[in-house]
Amino acid sequence: MLGRLLGWLGATAAMTAAVVSGLALAPSPTGPPRSAVYVVVPHPDDEFQVWSLIEQYTVFVVLTHGEQTEYCEPSEYETSAQPDLEHPADPLPTGRWSPACSEARQNSLLRYLGDMSATDARIPGDFAPPVRTAPLPLTDGPVCRSDGADECTSADSTAEVFVDRRNRGAVVFFDLGDGDLTEDEAVWGIRTALDQRAALGLDTSLPVSAVLGAYADDDGGTGGSSGQRCFPYAPPDHLALHRALWNVDFHAGLQAAATCADDPHRSIAATVSDAAVDAAFRIGEGGERLGAHVKNYGWLWPDYYHVAREGELDLFTQQQYFWVRFDE
Ligand SMILES: [Zn+2]
Repeated sequence: MLGRLLGWLGATAAMTAAVVSGLALAPSPTGPPRSAVYVVVPHPDDEFQVWSLIEQYTVFVVLTHGEQTEYCEPSEYETSAQPDLEHPADPLPTGRWSPACSEARQNSLLRYLGDMSATDARIPGDFAPPVRTAPLPLTDGPVCRSDGADECTSADSTAEVFVDRRNRGAVVFFDLGDGDLTEDEAVWGIRTALDQRAALGLDTSLPVSAVLGAYADDDGGTGGSSGQRCFPYAPPDHLALHRALWNVDFHAGLQAAATCADDPHRSIAATVSDAAVDAAFRIGEGGERLGAHVKNYGWLWPDYYHVAREGELDLFTQQQYFWVRFDE
């Protein structure tokens, strides 16, 4: 449904903006989910980049643990964390690539979704204890947390899955190596999340209406007449995800990724509701991080991640744009 509607809008409006509202398209929050949307992100904190298109049953496919972040170094954490204003990392990270760093980043995402689900009944956020799968079938070459080293283990092809107790979706964590995600690994993660739904404990009865990828912009968005229009963002993991979604047809409905408004390939413009932006980014009068995003992810930025309510000069934006590569 979503795919067909957006496909029609994209095709009809061609390069002019097909303006949609995620909430306007959404089915009633109290009705049963009718289709599944897969949101694919390289790191636990990218989810808001596609928030405008989220539907009712959402599977967040997180390709890495984000364990390379500098904010897991205790000296950096000390400068970025403001525990009187925001949630501290839990557990306290003991360095980049440390197990505590991975766990803290996963917990931040789970708590972010839990808090968002408090104001949007469609969002999965009430998670059962996680299930670790057996090694999943390899289809697109090796998958490896540490590429370039001879350290691939069978654990690299497992997933940790948090299923929402109210059938609103799930979070599937892969562990494919923060900073060295390859296109093949991204393809494997997406294909596995779609093809191994039963093994992952996901709802197998719902048709998949969309696969949506996180934001990347590798030319700085300098194409607009007013100069830079977008947040320049070309981390290798995000580019690998974009290549995967551009090059491989997953036959899973609308296949799209977040991009700059100036991207000549973009065909969808969508807006996150004011309510959802507030739920994620609200700041109190004393600087308290009240929104789910600023509260749980604040330790990953010197102060906290800001949202652009106009334009795209921050990494997180209310107005969102997507290219669509396949829609079937
Ligand atoms: Zn990211």
